[in-house]
Amino acid sequence: MRPFSLTTLGREGGSALIHTFHFISEVIISKKVCGKRQYPGYAFQRAETILWYNSFAMDIRKFVRPNVYALSAYEAKEVPCKVKLDANESPYGFDDIVKALKAVRTNRYPDPEARSLKKLIAKDLKVRPENILQGNGSDELIYYLVTTFGGPVLYPVPTFSMYGIISQALGETKFEIPLDEEFDLDLEKILTVVRKEKPKLIFLSSPNNPTGNCFSSEKILKIIETTSSKSIVVVDEAYQPFASDKGFIPMLDDYENLVIMRTLSKIGLAGLRVGLLIAKQEIVHEVNKVRLPFNLNSLSQAVALEAMKKKDFMKQNIRSIVSERKRLFNEISNIEGIRPYPSEANFILFRVESSDRTYKDLLKNGVLLRNMKGVVDDCLRVTVGTPEENRIFLQALNLAVKK
Ligand code: PMP
Repeated sequence: MRPFSLTTLGREGGSALIHTFHFISEVIISKKVCGKRQYPGYAFQRAETILWYNSFAMDIRKFVRPNVYALSAYEAKEVPCKVKLDANESPYGFDDIVKALKAVRTNRYPDPEARSLKKLIAKDLKVRPENILQGNGSDELIYYLVTTFGGPVLYPVPTFSMYGIISQALGETKFEIPLDEEFDLDLEKILTVVRKEKPKLIFLSSPNNPTGNCFSSEKILKIIETTSSKSIVVVDEAYQPFASDKGFIPMLDDYENLVIMRTLSKIGLAGLRVGLLIAKQEIVHEVNKVRLPFNLNSLSQAVALEAMKKKDFMKQNIRSIVSERKRLFNEISNIEGIRPYPSEANFILFRVESSDRTYKDLLKNGVLLRNMKGVVDDCLRVTVGTPEENRIFLQALNLAVKK
């Protein structure tokens, strides 16, 4: 690594300068947030990034497709903390199933069709294995859907950011329709845009991330019915296990243009990256053509298979998260100046006076949340953790608002 100083960085062009300032501000923040012990490693990492930019003489912009150059990558920061409640993960893992790994033959490719896993999941969901397509997380399935069907792509906002990122990365036109005041679908606006722009794909996350509510099922049905034979409607049910209704899988027989997405990420298996697309066989058949072979690795298949057999453990964890969600909601409602929004997911969105300030105050006490600034202003999103994690969060939140 070549030594650098602020003057050399400054001399070597505007972009290096911008990154230098970025670096300095991040170091200051990281010093404040993490204390001095994390600082040297962090600074080293950032310094390497700067040098990487600094030594790259080619004008990369000329090579990258404009839609990709204009994109900001999905940000999933690794911020050091004691209580991690920022990513809608489950606080409960499956620690004892690593035994399943003993049977994995690392020298062989995985089962390209993930047959055993799909068979087990199909039984659970009361569909046939032919109706399921496996993804490396449901993120990958969104990619496959946009690759297969193309755009225009329509989705309400605020919602899960990957619908927009993937559509833009693939050069497709996006139509973002704001939710109404209740965070429900604005049916009239959606249908107007549907009639005019004829989107090929419509993504509806229900329960919706980051708002937490389920959209009205009558409105979803109306969209599916109005667009039948014109648009594919994808109901993303990543958070359905925590919701009070059954979701849309029972309606698959009735609607040919309906696609459902599920994931194992929110029920204790985020590290495995297992997503599921459930639809009519004809749709699965087409999307499967763009799937990369062996997209679900052997270790994930083996561990997921074992975990899915532990239904009682899984159900108990979900019950605990749902009951803690109720408790958290009530406790947050009782704090003056804070407004939580009702949730059917494993997280709660809440409004504060300044999300920046509260985010930093919580992090000073080791509690990491998602600051929704720019998505839903003055809001933070907290993932429901264990009772102990939630207690620490509530204590820190009470302290933050009293300041
Ligand atoms: N859909 C929604 C609505 C999500 O919030 C998320 C993750 N935050 C995903 C899909 C992606 O899940 P996976 O881990 O299966 O890629």
